[in-house]
Amino acid sequence: MALTAKQKKFVAEYLVDLNATQAAIRAGYSKKTARSVGQENLTKPDIQRELQAAMSERARRTEITADMVLQRWWAIATADPNEIMHLRRLACRHCYGIGHAYQWRDAAEYEDAVRPAEREAELSDKPPDIPSCEGGFGFNRLSAPNPRCPICSGEGRLDLHLEDTRQLPPQARMLYAGVKQTQAGVEVKLQDQGKALENVARHLGMFRDRVELSGGLDNTSQDVGNLSPEQRRARIDELNRRRGIGTDRAPGS
Ligand SMILES: [Zn+2]
Repeated sequence: MALTAKQKKFVAEYLVDLNATQAAIRAGYSKKTARSVGQENLTKPDIQRELQAAMSERARRTEITADMVLQRWWAIATADPNEIMHLRRLACRHCYGIGHAYQWRDAAEYEDAVRPAEREAELSDKPPDIPSCEGGFGFNRLSAPNPRCPICSGEGRLDLHLEDTRQLPPQARMLYAGVKQTQAGVEVKLQDQGKALENVARHLGMFRDRVELSGGLDNTSQDVGNLSPEQRRARIDELNRRRGIGTDRAPGS
């Protein structure tokens, strides 16, 4: 049976955003029934065939394969956010100072600290409170903490480090979603890794049990993006068990 003009329009519109309800509205179905008509249309064999053919044709034309999309989602899901930003512990000012006294970076930094103390003394007529330089010079802010430091007990100080986002390795670059200037500083945005993993799982048919229960093509699977990584793992393992697939994953992943 050939498709009606309206159904053809529905197919064309559905390919735009894969939203059955919106496609039904744009194809001219009434807004009131668009949702049910959209879902019903998706279950019709003629329409399914037409959609499948159109999607295959589009994939052939663009040379974008499902594997490519899947690999991209998997890369995002498994990228390491530490490659974009990380918290690290660095030496405190006392870690490597002589006798663990405050260590200055260099003489210029020390003089910058002495000058205001001298000025203060001149104005107030009190003896100047000159900072000590007995800890010496050579502080390097990027040194690792000294485990024997009695001031920080080897914990150093916390430092938030953001990588130069232009130089990110390819996988981290896919995870990186831009930066926003806020009043508090900069906000680094990342792709949703939970969502990416959910997309992979859905693509591999791991949620088939739920889709079948819903009786349609609509996405009714549980939003694994809201689960913790442990819960997500457990969920995927459970689904794999039900499908009779063993899980092989690297230790510690
Ligand atoms: Zn220290």
